[in-house]
Amino acid sequence: MTTYAAFHQRSLTDRDGFWGEQAQLVDWKVQPQQVCDYSNPPFAKWFVGGITNLCHNAVDRHLKDRADQAALIFVSTETNQEKVYSYRDLHAEVQRMAAVLKELGVQKGDRVLIYMPMIAEAAFAMLACTRIGAIHSVVFGGFASGSLASRIEDAEPKVIISADAGSRGGKAVAYKPLLDEAINLSKYKPESVLLVDRGLVPMALVDGRDKLWAPLRDKNLNTVVECEWVDSTHPSYTLYTSGTTGKPKGVQRDTGGYCVALAASMKHIYAGNAGETYFSTSDIGWVVGHSYIIYGPLIAGMATIMYEGLPIRPDGGIWWSLVEKYKVTVMFSAPTAIRVLKKQDPTLLSKYDLSSLRALFLAGEPLDEPTAQWISDGLGKPIIDNYWQTETGWPILALCNGVEKVVSKFGSPGKAVYGYDVKLLDDQTGEELTGPNQKGVVAVEGPLPPGCMQTVWRDDERFVNTYWKSVPGKLVYSTFDWGVRDADGYYFILGRTDDVINVAGHRLGTREIEESIAAHPNIAEVAVVGVADQLKGQVAMAFAVVKDASLVADETSALKLEAEIFKLVDRDLGAVARPARVRFVTVLPKTRSGKCLRRAITAVCEGRDPGDLTTMDDPAALQQIKDLVSAR
Ligand code: ATP
Ligand code: MG
Repeated sequence: MTTYAAFHQRSLTDRDGFWGEQAQLVDWKVQPQQVCDYSNPPFAKWFVGGITNLCHNAVDRHLKDRADQAALIFVSTETNQEKVYSYRDLHAEVQRMAAVLKELGVQKGDRVLIYMPMIAEAAFAMLACTRIGAIHSVVFGGFASGSLASRIEDAEPKVIISADAGSRGGKAVAYKPLLDEAINLSKYKPESVLLVDRGLVPMALVDGRDKLWAPLRDKNLNTVVECEWVDSTHPSYTLYTSGTTGKPKGVQRDTGGYCVALAASMKHIYAGNAGETYFSTSDIGWVVGHSYIIYGPLIAGMATIMYEGLPIRPDGGIWWSLVEKYKVTVMFSAPTAIRVLKKQDPTLLSKYDLSSLRALFLAGEPLDEPTAQWISDGLGKPIIDNYWQTETGWPILALCNGVEKVVSKFGSPGKAVYGYDVKLLDDQTGEELTGPNQKGVVAVEGPLPPGCMQTVWRDDERFVNTYWKSVPGKLVYSTFDWGVRDADGYYFILGRTDDVINVAGHRLGTREIEESIAAHPNIAEVAVVGVADQLKGQVAMAFAVVKDASLVADETSALKLEAEIFKLVDRDLGAVARPARVRFVTVLPKTRSGKCLRRAITAVCEGRDPGDLTTMDDPAALQQIKDLVSAR
């Protein structure tokens, strides 16, 4: 049996041999002539000369062996719907959608913007686009008109696919008025808007522009739409980053490289098999939804669960009940969701038969040790943290469950994934840090492996300047995350590079201070930011959410808890890391994808404009911090 170290090593030293083998996990109309063309760094072309289709690999090629097996399992606890689509059903639905898009004039290379709730039609829409070679651009359904308008302008979609409404916590959230407003705001106008009417909210249609899905679908019940065979390098989609650190970047993905990368990851990382069920709790608006709700599981011939609803409704056991019912073998979620479950009755974790489940993967933000321990104890299954970015499309750091038995170290997303030549670099000198436990910027030597971003949509210059120029004199991809690697090759992510605090010459990662504070039994969640200070250069400021608000109901008890936290940080990291203040709030400002907006907190603390907040979830959260800071 190969050890993981040898597997990883070969992926770098025999790059073309390694990826040439992985390429055989997918179907090609024409086999690639060249595995990787890196003649124009940092632009990598994968599987050059290869001709394929993403939808064919996700749907059509399974018809031969598993037409009647489940492909898409749609579950909504919002509208109490549950529907299982076999591969045959999915194939039919995708062709109907593809036929309608063609009727609306969509051709290969045209963009289609998808602004939809988590319903099966959203999956049909994505697959229909890649089927006909159109480039989809999914915009998270929770975004307001401003965020949507800027994405419409950037993508210039011929058609927008949307719905009357989403639903959250049992309440309908109208989409159509937001979409109308966004189209009004945008300088670019789509030719058509295709609408799924769920019957949740009445919607007004714009004559000539808006079309309803149902009658067009009925007209095309039996229309055959063949896959459009495209070059491996043909763009399959664009997707924006979460906007945690600033203006979101439009990530452009290819076809062949992405298809191979996902197929390989399903085998080596997630270890899911055809005929089994995969359950990712993400949203199609995020990269995890693209790679591991839609394309990855389907390419692997698995059934994938698409879940619309909250993790705690009707109760905190809903996800585990689905694991039992559909015999889920691989599950994928985010630390933020596990923290939500942590506040629920822990017996819900043992109420269902989870014997089918092999592992729970978590990604998206740092997985703190107490949360990892809690879910690990509760489920009794391997908990596998994995670290990646919208830009990469699949994990950079993980443990490869399909290659060797994983040994997790809580707090670490594991080792460098095959295909990634991960380096830690000194952010000042660019020098590579090779020893254990040295802190540096997590970087990847080019070429990025298959599946990673090709460029920034219509902006090659921004791609090069944003990602490849941060280290002087060296062309290397920066993740803008700060990390450390231990002697066993396990990485620990310490925070974003702009979250490094320099207190009187000591460089500290906000994550380290947060971990220390989060270990206090009364703290549910905490954000630490570096704030400019005349004397020390920077000081750390902490904003913490307490588990029980009565603990900080008055000034004295708040000061008492603050003093306890100071002691904890002093003990763990030394007095130099002690925050100037620990302030208590009921909620932290986050992106819609659940990531803490530290840059906005910093700006508020420094009395600056917090910048682009279009992807922020709850504006009241930032207001609390503003109030605290101005009351000082
Ligand atoms: P933007 O780039 O627009 O500021 P973003 O970086 O939040 O937004 P994403 O691509 O959704 O957008 O998130 C990727 C980032 O999330 C990583 O760079 C890292 O900071 C964080 N992250 C993802 N997974 C993990 C993980 N397992 N552990 C720690 N951090 C993680
Ligand atoms: Mg980012």
